[in-house]
Amino acid sequence: MAQFKTFDARLLRSVPLSEFTRHLELEVNGVTRFGFVSGQWLSVKTNTPDGEEMTRAYSIASPPAENGHVAFCLNRVQDGFMSNYLCSLDEGAKIAFQGPFGDFILRPPLRDTVLIATGTGIAPFRSMLHWLLAEGDRHHGHQFWLLFGARREQDIYYREEFEHLTAGHTNFHFLPTLSRAAPEWKGLRGYVQEHLAEIVGTRTDMHAYICGLDKMVKANRELLKSLGWDRTSIRYEKYD
Ligand SMILES: Cc1cc2nc3c(=O)[nH]c(=O)nc-3n(C[C@H](O)[C@H](O)[C@H](O)COP(=O)(O)OP(=O)(O)OC[C@H]3O[C@@H](n4cnc5c(N)ncnc54)[C@H](O)[C@@H]3O)c2cc1C
Repeated sequence: MAQFKTFDARLLRSVPLSEFTRHLELEVNGVTRFGFVSGQWLSVKTNTPDGEEMTRAYSIASPPAENGHVAFCLNRVQDGFMSNYLCSLDEGAKIAFQGPFGDFILRPPLRDTVLIATGTGIAPFRSMLHWLLAEGDRHHGHQFWLLFGARREQDIYYREEFEHLTAGHTNFHFLPTLSRAAPEWKGLRGYVQEHLAEIVGTRTDMHAYICGLDKMVKANRELLKSLGWDRTSIRYEKYD
């Protein structure tokens, strides 16, 4: 079996994004630049108190950077070991991981693209969008929609960042949709799959990337296939 290098990182910052979700920023030790492609994930390793080795996958939520920094967007899963362990770490703590892994990456040649996420499924798309929109020749001539499902307004992670990206790029459309919106919410309501058909219309020449829990991924894949999409135009990453 292939042996993968284990990296050590230091937790630089851990900030809440909502009641059960945190944004973690790590500095990978001993590298000036940590190479990965937006959309990839890392396999985080630790031991439980009774000595059992535990590994879990986490998407990289930041774009490739020159300083060896990577970010995670983490949800505390009820009764889950790793997610609660990572969310409870103090700044300065050491985190061991292997990677990067995965092929949930933007597939060339680029097409008009819809990115569909719920919850921490936003992580790979935050990485992809910051990378894509940073340079004109990476995205010019194409349209991008980010359809992001959350429960309430306070669960729209990275909202200001995505609004800022929308303001600076006429070809990027940020569409948060809330399943438990307050009456005063003026944006989209309901689940992501209820808005997808409106975005893609009769087009089947686009790419779709879907990230989140199995049920949501399935509902969106089924919908696109029922609209005549080829399954090779739909990429997905399931978290459960
Ligand atoms: C490729 C990949 C990338 C991932 N990226 C992220 C990420 O960026 N951010 C993130 O928060 N998570 C991500 N996950 C999920 C993550 O790997 C763990 O599964 C999750 O953190 C739960 O681990 P745990 O040890 O806390 O819970 P576990 O002990 O593994 O699970 C406890 C219980 O929760 C259920 N469960 C497992 N995962 C989830 C989940 N995600 N949501 C709800 N219930 C769950 C299990 O069925 C089990 O019953 C990713 C998963 C994959 C496969």
